[in-house]
Amino acid sequence: MMRRGDRMGLGYSYKCSECSKKYEVFQGIGMLFPEGYEDTVAKLKNGRFGKAWKELYENTENVAIDAEKRVYLCPSCGYWKNEPGLSLYAADNEEAISAVKNGCPVFYGDDSLPAMMGNMPKYHLLKEYEHKCKKCGGKMKAADDDEILTLSCPKCSGAPDPENTMYILWD
Ligand SMILES: [Zn+2]
Ligand SMILES: [Zn+2]
Repeated sequence: MMRRGDRMGLGYSYKCSECSKKYEVFQGIGMLFPEGYEDTVAKLKNGRFGKAWKELYENTENVAIDAEKRVYLCPSCGYWKNEPGLSLYAADNEEAISAVKNGCPVFYGDDSLPAMMGNMPKYHLLKEYEHKCKKCGGKMKAADDDEILTLSCPKCSGAPDPENTMYILWD
C-alpha cells in the first residue's frame, strides 16, 4: 500500500555566484509543507489555474489534481518556476477513489510501477496541464536532474555556486 510518508520531498538550495542571492526549489509532496494537496485543490477552486480547469475538476467524479511539486523550465529562454504538476487524473479503482477522498493521491508513470501491483491505486490522465513560460510564452518542461543543479539565479540570471548548492529533505 502506498502511504503518505512513502514519498519524501527533495529540495535544493542555491547561492548565486554573481549576486550572492539565496534561492531554493522543492520537488515531491511534502505533507507538512503548506503547499500540500488540499492547498492545491483550494487554489484550483478559486480559479487560480483557469476557469476551464476549475470546471473540468468540478464536473468530473473522483478527479484528482497532481499536487507534486516540480521544477518547470522554459527551453527557449531559460526561465524556470517551481510549482505542482496540476494535470488532472481520474481514479480508476477503489484504492484510487479512497486516496482521492483522503487527499493523498500520488501518480506514477507506467514505467515506474512496481511489478507487484495488487491493490495499488490506479488512475488515468484526464487532461495534461500545460505550463507556459510567463516571459516568452513557450511551453515549459519538467527539468531533469542536471538542469535542476544548474538553475539560474531568479534575480540576475547568474549561475549557482556549486560549492553552495545543498540538498534539503522535507516531508
Ligand atoms: Zn544572482
Ligand atoms: Zn521562456
